[in-house]
Amino acid sequence: AKNRGRNRLVTFDETMNKEARMRLWLEIELQKALQNKGLEVWYQPKVSARDFSIHGAEALVRWKHPIEGYISPAQFIPVAERSGLIEQLGQVVMKEVFTTVKFWKKQGMLQGRVAINLSPQQFGNPNLIQYVSDLQRTTGVNPDDITFELTESAMLGENEHTIQMLNAIKKLGFALSIDDFGTGYSSLSYLARFPLDELKIDRAFIKDLETVPKQLTLIENIINLGKSLNMSVVAEGVETQQQAALLSNLNCDYIQGFHFFRPLPKTDLETILMKNFRG
Ligand code: C2E
Ligand code: CA
Ligand code: CA
Ligand code: CA
Repeated sequence: AKNRGRNRLVTFDETMNKEARMRLWLEIELQKALQNKGLEVWYQPKVSARDFSIHGAEALVRWKHPIEGYISPAQFIPVAERSGLIEQLGQVVMKEVFTTVKFWKKQGMLQGRVAINLSPQQFGNPNLIQYVSDLQRTTGVNPDDITFELTESAMLGENEHTIQMLNAIKKLGFALSIDDFGTGYSSLSYLARFPLDELKIDRAFIKDLETVPKQLTLIENIINLGKSLNMSVVAEGVETQQQAALLSNLNCDYIQGFHFFRPLPKTDLETILMKNFRG
């Protein structure tokens, strides 16, 4: 028993070590990727819940490591957030998206807005406003074509900083979306106080929409809540035809999920958009 205990302890320590080493490796490799322009931005289209036509997209960062292949954002975003690399990563994403959206809109290729995810660390930095404002001017993008997505936890409660940042982003003309709605915050009072344009219902609510009757009631009420507060409502993580039909019946505004589109490289999305464009 003593032996086993000791072994377990050793195993435990090695696991910790492995995790720490993994984090360090990711940080070093991510640093390299940022230097070598090794990050890409992919786009997942959203569709209208009325006619299922493409309406806007979400920008999602992708990292193809030269040896390991694609590494999931779920793995490297937390590392970027803890190491401070998220600042640079976020700027790469914003530059790419602003430039691309300017082009798509000029060509008349895309309807709706493109959404950019903001980490709590990015949102917490007051320099974000100046950066975004400068980038908007140099790229010439219409801020009305861009949405910033924030999670409930990114807004860090209803303090002065949060209100000031949200108002500053709105004042520049950008739209604001609350991401992963229903997963992060215990109070709903921020919905009345914050200038939010969109509410994204988290995938967790959609998952068992067909099998858990109360889930449908819950979603119906979230949709009505969002709409009554003048927000557009997006359902994310929609994977089946039945989920899409149910959401459509509940008058959800937009749908995002693998049932319609996976995140796509820019050129793949452009091919799809051009096909639609030509009819
Ligand atoms: P998120 O903002 O909630 O993004 C949605 C995630 O759900 C994406 O994962 C997307 O690929 C995935 N997804 C979309 N439809 C479906 C579906 O039908 N079923 C399932 N199972 N999944 C679906 P991804 O791209 O791996 O990103 C994970 C998270 O990483 C994002 O969650 C976001 O929090 C973060 N992230 C991604 N790109 C960026 C970025 O450029 N900046 C920042 N700060 N965070 C990012
Ligand atoms: Ca998001
Ligand atoms: Ca989300
Ligand atoms: Ca999320």
